[in-house]
Amino acid sequence: ATAQIGVTGLAVMGSNLARNFARHGHTVAVHNRTYAKTEALVKEHGHEGDFVPSETAEEFVASLVKPRRIIIMVKAGEATDAVIDEFAPLLDEGDVIIDGGNAHFADTRRREKDLRDKGIHFVGAGISGGEEGALNGPSIMPGGSAESYKSLGPLLESIAAKAEDGTPCAVHVGPDGAGHFVKMVHNGIEYADMQLIAEAYDLLRSVGGFAPERIAEIFRNWNAGRLDSYLIEITAEVLAHKDAATGRPFVDVVADEAEQKGTGRWTVQTALDLGVPVSGIAEAVFARSVSGHKELREAANGLPGPSAEPLSATEAEEFAARVEEALYASKVVSYAQGWNMIAKASEEYGWDIDLGAMAAIWRGGCIIRAAFLDRIRAAFATDPQLPTLLADRQFAEEVGRAQDAWREVVATAVRRGVPTPGFSAALAYYDALRAERLPAALTQGQRDFFGAHTYRRTDREGSFHTLWSGDRSEEQTA
Ligand code: NDP
Repeated sequence: ATAQIGVTGLAVMGSNLARNFARHGHTVAVHNRTYAKTEALVKEHGHEGDFVPSETAEEFVASLVKPRRIIIMVKAGEATDAVIDEFAPLLDEGDVIIDGGNAHFADTRRREKDLRDKGIHFVGAGISGGEEGALNGPSIMPGGSAESYKSLGPLLESIAAKAEDGTPCAVHVGPDGAGHFVKMVHNGIEYADMQLIAEAYDLLRSVGGFAPERIAEIFRNWNAGRLDSYLIEITAEVLAHKDAATGRPFVDVVADEAEQKGTGRWTVQTALDLGVPVSGIAEAVFARSVSGHKELREAANGLPGPSAEPLSATEAEEFAARVEEALYASKVVSYAQGWNMIAKASEEYGWDIDLGAMAAIWRGGCIIRAAFLDRIRAAFATDPQLPTLLADRQFAEEVGRAQDAWREVVATAVRRGVPTPGFSAALAYYDALRAERLPAALTQGQRDFFGAHTYRRTDREGSFHTLWSGDRSEEQTA
């Protein structure tokens, strides 16, 4: 046995990860259900490092040094269970199975428990960065036992992306499903980011009157400032791209129906269960859903909207600057919501997640990588108990400075009939958090009226009920 790490499941993600390990000097055992893929990998990329191909699960396990470390990179769901069932009986106590697929964290919790009972470490590891990341350095979010990370950590850190300060973008997130949980929230935040960027584009185009190529330039300029991020960078690329067949802007020939694989939806479903408002992510998921409802859109096509004068060139430039402010402020809100969700789950499941460390490992490798994440890391370094990013002094100042422009942009969008659910929901959340009083008091009154659900008072302890259908006197119920 010579291999330090094994990868089973050699589709695009698995083979790229295996190559990444090999390129970093590790001997990698490789295995795939269909052997032809294993052979193809070694034939094409064998010269990049030390690969040990195996046709059977038994040979594969035998080629690994102990404690064995096996990364599963197969289709999430039943395939993962099938592969675990195939390998678990061949392993010894102390061996480590790593699931690098996009598993739901609840599945990871279940699998971890089953294998823990057999003395095998199960590590659900979120891996972000797509194919390119898997090959050149992903952001890695491993869960599972702290003990398993001792032997696994150095291997993962060696192939992970490195942040600007050189820190590897891999850290032990927390026990059982913690890794897959934060990967899910990462994807949710990615949805929110993409939606906000899409709204900014829509506003620049529909209200500002800018052509896609000019909007690409605007995004490139933004990318040199506080919005510096992978997603803004690729947005500029996509907007500048011309369709070869028609010569038209690429963005004008693509069908405007966004698809989704499901991690955004999981994030929102889970947030509802945890009772954490993640309206930015929810609006992003719904916006994709609305775009895909062709029949609804066709039925509503032609409903009246507002008429508006085009902006002058100077007004358009000023508007673009305000859109940048609105985008930034909305982004702070959706990250604040995402971090709240991680904090809540960490508390609920006893994961003890280091909130600043999550920002640190997302600085490189992953889709939401951005200069901004170092600011979040710094905010938690200043106050590890920060209840919301909006309470961080620097973020509060920036959002405070942006708020006039933010309101102006949302108002303009409403006046001109441009849908901006992300910007609007973020602003509503900001206003709800800072409000001294919320109309929830009225909601409580209604609930007490129709359902005797009781309410608490601002001036006295206890629960109260008003006899709404009687003499409307108040009684204390607890
Ligand atoms: P796929 O999700 O397309 O899965 C294909 C692989 O799964 C093949 O190796 C296939 O083997 C294997 N497989 C499927 N069913 C079984 C089974 N019942 N038993 C054994 N093996 C099986 O591959 P990807 O590389 O795209 O993704 C791998 C994982 O990584 C997924 O969970 C995905 O969600 C996740 N991921 C993907 C990202 C991406 O950008 N694509 C990014 C981050 C994570 P065979 O060749 O024999 O058919």
